[in-house]
Amino acid sequence: MKCVLAGIGQAGGKLADALVQFDHQHGYDSVQDAIAINSAKTDLQSLAIDTVLIGQSHLKGHGVGGDNERAAELMEADLAEVQETIGNRITSQAESIILTTGLGGGTGSGATPVLARRLTAIYDIPVYVLAVLPSTEESNLAHVNAGRSLKTITNTADATLLIDNDAWRSTGESLSDGYETINQQIAKRIGLLLAAGEPIDGVAESVVDSSEVINTLQAGGMAAIGYNEVPAGESTEDNINTITAATRSAFFSGLSLTGDVAAESALLVITGEPDRISRKGVEKSRRWLEDETGSMQVRGGDFPRESDQIGALVVLGGVQQSDRIEGFFERAKEATAAPIETENDDAKMFQNDELDGL
Ligand code: GDP
Repeated sequence: MKCVLAGIGQAGGKLADALVQFDHQHGYDSVQDAIAINSAKTDLQSLAIDTVLIGQSHLKGHGVGGDNERAAELMEADLAEVQETIGNRITSQAESIILTTGLGGGTGSGATPVLARRLTAIYDIPVYVLAVLPSTEESNLAHVNAGRSLKTITNTADATLLIDNDAWRSTGESLSDGYETINQQIAKRIGLLLAAGEPIDGVAESVVDSSEVINTLQAGGMAAIGYNEVPAGESTEDNINTITAATRSAFFSGLSLTGDVAAESALLVITGEPDRISRKGVEKSRRWLEDETGSMQVRGGDFPRESDQIGALVVLGGVQQSDRIEGFFERAKEATAAPIETENDDAKMFQNDELDGL
């Protein structure tokens, strides 16, 4: 799936940069172009992609700190310039626009909803947001910022792929030490998903195309992604259980949201050498995913690549229930000192009437 990336804020810029690197290293050519947008000049300097500094006349490149309302205003004021910079990169081949951001800060948290709203109003291709939730260790301010931003983003973007900063961190590793690892993990998963939607020569039996990725995410709202890979056996027969095990691990421990998750739709992509991928294993895994997610819409396909590993990439669209998201909104509401919902009603958790949007 051909896409144009815009990374907003420090985390957003680093993620866009990491995605471009992954795509180029593997020669997938899914990322057509990428820019990073920030109000803090220093955060843009280390990036290899093109950059746009917003709010320059007010802040002189010094950033907004944690003030996401200010970031929203400054993005609004510079929207014409940002929109043109992105528009110049969107060719007729582009099939999606992906905004990457960390929700707990100021710039990404405030500017992303404003930009997402404008881009969805202009383009027919989907606008997805890849958004990093703050770790449970982060401050109340990070949670309030993220809660308000997420509420607006999910009402605006075509889908919001959530990444939990606690999901892929090694035990004992500090959050900032873990960022680099987490960014690589995100780049690999999203990079494989985009590449899986590309047309491929020498084709597998059941190749995924972009429309399947788009249809899986069409449920809107929040989405999650998971991946796991295991050593492949020699023959397809050897790999029936390899594929089911990789799929279950991707879902249980490789997912970008920790805890139980139920979803409206799912996509399962099996990666590996085509003559080692067992159709029986793929079918079994798909049925398993249907049962586990409660979704009848589980799409699937292969992504052929030279590797002695078999990988399972799982995308969940229209996440309807997630312990992690509920816990996160609960904390965000507590931090805004708003009355907390006492009824244990999952649907209400996702409405978040107590949180103001941006
Ligand atoms: P901004 O520049 O004001 O948008 O703020 P930052 O991007 O620095 O931080 C926003 C949030 O993103 C933080 O609360 C962290 O949760 C997260 N974060 C910061 N840097 C990284 C990073 O490199 N990787 C990941 N995965 N998360 C990050």
